[in-house]
Order: sequence, then C-alpha cells, then structure tokens
Amino acid sequence: MTNMLNRRQFLQKGAAASLATTVLFKGAQAMSAPAAKKPVAISTWSHGIPANEAAWKVLKAGGTALDAVEQGVRVPEADPKEMSVGYGGRPDRDGHVTLDACIMDDKGNAGSVCFLEHIKHPISVARLVMEKTPHVMLAGEGALQFALENGFEKEDLLTDEARRQWEDWKTKADYHPEVNIENHDTISMLALDVHGNLSGACTTSGMAYKLHGRVGDSPIIGAGMFCDNEVGGAAATGHGEWVMRTLGSFLVVELMRQGRSPQAACEEAVMRIVKLQPNFDEVQIGYIAINKAGETGAYCLHPGFNYALYEDDKNVLIDAESYLKK
Ligand code: ASP
Repeated sequence: MTNMLNRRQFLQKGAAASLATTVLFKGAQAMSAPAAKKPVAISTWSHGIPANEAAWKVLKAGGTALDAVEQGVRVPEADPKEMSVGYGGRPDRDGHVTLDACIMDDKGNAGSVCFLEHIKHPISVARLVMEKTPHVMLAGEGALQFALENGFEKEDLLTDEARRQWEDWKTKADYHPEVNIENHDTISMLALDVHGNLSGACTTSGMAYKLHGRVGDSPIIGAGMFCDNEVGGAAATGHGEWVMRTLGSFLVVELMRQGRSPQAACEEAVMRIVKLQPNFDEVQIGYIAINKAGETGAYCLHPGFNYALYEDDKNVLIDAESYLKK
C-alpha cells in the first residue's frame, strides 16, 4: 500500500515511539538496544517505491537485507523510464552511459564498480566483486571484463529517449545539472532484515552529461553509501562531488554511533556541506539513514527530495525536510 505524507506529518505520527527508542539508542548501548522495528526498507526518490516492493518480498520471507537491497535496486536499474539509473540512464557528455554502484553487507564486506559501460545491473556486478574477488572496487574496462567473464550480457544501454535528450542538450552543451523530483536520481537503499542485520546498495548513471571518465560518490564506500551492522546505515543522492568531499554516508553513520538519531545525523551531514559551500544554489544533496533500532531519517539541502519508506507493511513516499524552505 502506498501513501503520501510529508516528513512532518510522518514524524508526528511516529514521534512518541521514536522518542522512546532514541532514549535507548545512545552510543555503545545501541548494540544491545531491544525491540528493533524490523524489517524496514528505505530508499531514495519515488523509484524507491517499486524498489522497496521488491525488497519487501525478500524481507518478509525472512531473506537477508543483502538480497533485499540487491533485488530492490535492480528494479529501477532495469526500467528504461528511469533515466538516472542503469538501462535508460542519461549518458555522459560524449554519449556513453557509464554506471556506478556499490553494495555492503552486514559483515562490513563491500563491493563496487565504477565507470562501467554496457551492463544493465551494475549492483549485481558490485556484489560479485565483493563475494568473488579480494578487491572492493573495479573500474571501467576491467569491471566490464569481470562482468562478462561472470556471465553478464553486454547491452546497449542508451535508449532512444536518452539519446534524443542528449542530442538536444548538445545544441547548447550547457552543463547545468539539476537534481530533483522531476529528474530524480540515484537509487540508494538501506534495509534492516528480520534477523536484525543491515545492508545497503547504491546505483546510478551519475550526473547527466558529466565529463567522460567522471565518477561520482555513488560507488565510493563511505560517500554514496555506508553500513555498519553495529550502528546503522546511510546513503546519499545529489551532487556527488560534495558528498565525496565530506564522506557523507560515513559521517552520518559515525554521528549515529555517537548517539545522534538518524534524522539529526542526516541534518548535520547536510550542514557540513552548507559550511563548505556557502554558494549552494546549484547544489542538491539528500541523505537517508537507518539505525539498528529501525529508526529512519532523511534530510536535504533544497526542497524537492523525497524517499520511500517501507515499514509496518506500508510503503510510503515522504517529502524530506530541507535546510532551505520552499
Ligand atoms: N550522486 C550521484 C552522482 O553524483 C548522482 C545523484 O544522485 O544525483 O553521480
């Protein structure tokens, strides 16, 4: 079931329960905090709704958070209408669809691919890097070679619509990235399974019309996504350069480790960017976070970032609170 709420209505609804859990959830005590809400899946933007549905099937059947996040983000990766992820993603300046993705499990294992072309499901390649190699990250040609050696199919990911928009853009070639609901972006997903374990995934075609070779935050462990099964997980969307400069997802998790709620931790991570870049008119950043108790939070710089939260058998799209107001 899908409902629309804004963040404030949603917070009011859950305020009492949340306060009780927050009191329990301080620093090291978090590891033994009882009565976590689970399962939970949280993901960025409205494409998080169908992604959460796929993740929820895994979670409700008692599956792992790792399987849930992989299955979840594969939905927008395969959807040609999602023009910021996987198949159908907008190309770089030179017309190449180049993909970035990362995944982390509940044991601190991580896998990632960046600057990968021709593979529809970079998240599954990232998982294989994690599970089958001694490495964390493979890039470009090497990542493609690894994917092909492991049975992935080489495909043309540039759809007619993405090509048309790119041709149109080339008439001016004005690099002016906008990241908001209208052209929503990266899918990042975090899940807490019924066993109490956390995992996360993040996958994107990156900023549209970026320079060839540009890699954003999404495949960088600790920037685009980070999970620590003792504490919680966090993930980002938006202008990756700012997330990378502040190692945003790692920062959110470390703030939760020190006792902040997921909401407060996301707010502080956005404030770091506000301090670094006072001229943030063209910068949008959104964070989502979850802790071991199943509490969630989200925050963004400009209004316009929404996220999908599946808990208590409801899948809800929520407008995140923002630093700047409408
Ligand atoms: N963070 C992604 C990147 O910078 C894109 C996005 O989420 O908007 O590549």
